[in-house]
Amino acid sequence: MSDYLVQLANQPATRKLIKAVGMPTPVRLARADGGYEEQPLAGKSVVFGETERGAIAAKLQGLLGEAGAEVVRDVTALADRNPPYALVFDATGLTGAESLATLYSFFNASIAKLATNGRVLIVTGLPDEAATSAQAAAWRGVEGFVRSLAKEIGKRGATANLVYLGKGAEDRLAGPLRFVLSKHSAYVDGQAFYVTTAAKASQSVPLSKALAGKTALVTGGARGIGAATAARLAAEGAHVVVLDIPADRETLEQTAKLVNGTPLAVDITDAAAPETISNFLKEKFGGVDIVVHNAGVTRDKTLAKMPKKFWDMLLDINLGAILRIDARLHADKTLRDEGRIVCLSSIGGIAGNVGQTNYGASKAGLIGYVRAESAKHAARGICINAVAPGFIETRMTAAMPFMIREAGRRMNSLSQGGLPQDVAELITFFSTPGAAGVTGTVVRVCGQSLIGA
Ligand code: NAD
Repeated sequence: MSDYLVQLANQPATRKLIKAVGMPTPVRLARADGGYEEQPLAGKSVVFGETERGAIAAKLQGLLGEAGAEVVRDVTALADRNPPYALVFDATGLTGAESLATLYSFFNASIAKLATNGRVLIVTGLPDEAATSAQAAAWRGVEGFVRSLAKEIGKRGATANLVYLGKGAEDRLAGPLRFVLSKHSAYVDGQAFYVTTAAKASQSVPLSKALAGKTALVTGGARGIGAATAARLAAEGAHVVVLDIPADRETLEQTAKLVNGTPLAVDITDAAAPETISNFLKEKFGGVDIVVHNAGVTRDKTLAKMPKKFWDMLLDINLGAILRIDARLHADKTLRDEGRIVCLSSIGGIAGNVGQTNYGASKAGLIGYVRAESAKHAARGICINAVAPGFIETRMTAAMPFMIREAGRRMNSLSQGGLPQDVAELITFFSTPGAAGVTGTVVRVCGQSLIGA
């Protein structure tokens, strides 16, 4: 499905008309058209700022330089024809309410100049680790600032995100920084990434072909978000086992072929599925490094009218089967050390939707699951996170009535729906060695949807 308003708003002849009738004119988002690059910020200007006692200013500027950026400290140093691509701020030195004024000063002077499709990234400390309550207040205050700023710049296709940096986790910043500041994060907006040393990390972090030599499993991979994820993981060098139901064997085989992967026709709710999947991965590949639990369904009905079979079937596909498969992969040691698990949650699991008590329970359940599981497997370096898509243009959303579909598309800071590729990008980031600092979290890929915000 394509978004007609993005097409029309980006043609001079129709743009005026759309504006005249008061409709939003969403910017065509600049998305990545290939894999990770060694220097994603080459040729781009970044304005850098910090609070007085910013602890990681040197580190951040070093990382920006390595990513190819031209870093300046003062936005007026840039010519008008060279607007800053990104504004990056070290807010780890905030101490209390007054110090938040440093955010005001820096962004008040620079935000109007930010380029179309630009990026804002602020790094602050983890409020739970603050030295004083005043510092905890200031660090947490940054989140409200970022979320509000994201809403102000969304009409330019620009995004603002936050990194909460835990003690001692500076060396794990590069991955999140490169992702958030690159074109790979085009639809990730108004989000907080938690970067900590919770999970063991010893593997090297390649800057391109980030998944070379890795094996990945993507469930529900025949189409939609799963197929886009299989393609994206393969583009980073992974061999992808694409799993889908036997009834979809033809589409499954086509998708697997497209990504030079291996098809696996299994219904994840079959009693034998955990054993079949684990044995298949062990026998063919000696194990697996990345598991993406993408298979999922909706069976909408208001609760009073919901047949029990809708409840049972959905909860088993979207939640029960995932827990059983993971348990088996861990018991058999099929998932390797420093492996990655990514679960597809949904903003429906965060905000709830009429007619989706079953779906909401399953998708919120996954958020609780990744948090509990991350602690259990941290010593082996296994990271497990959830991705919560908002409105994504797939057959799931194409089936919605027009008005509901239109509301879902527009009610976000970027005034447009996301693409399967956008979700695949966030899943791929979580799958990389560079995401070792992030575990047990949920990140939305929703263009900062108003729903559940
Ligand atoms: P889709 O319907 O296009 O694809 C889902 C795939 O899962 C299908 O190929 C289907 O055959 C497979 N599947 C279903 N049951 C299975 C089973 N028992 N065993 C194996 N495979 C099975 O859906 P999509 O829109 O690409 O969604 C993918 C995931 O993202 C789902 O978990 C969904 O809940 C989640 N999500 C989607 C959106 C959106 O806007 N599209 C928003 C939030 C969350």
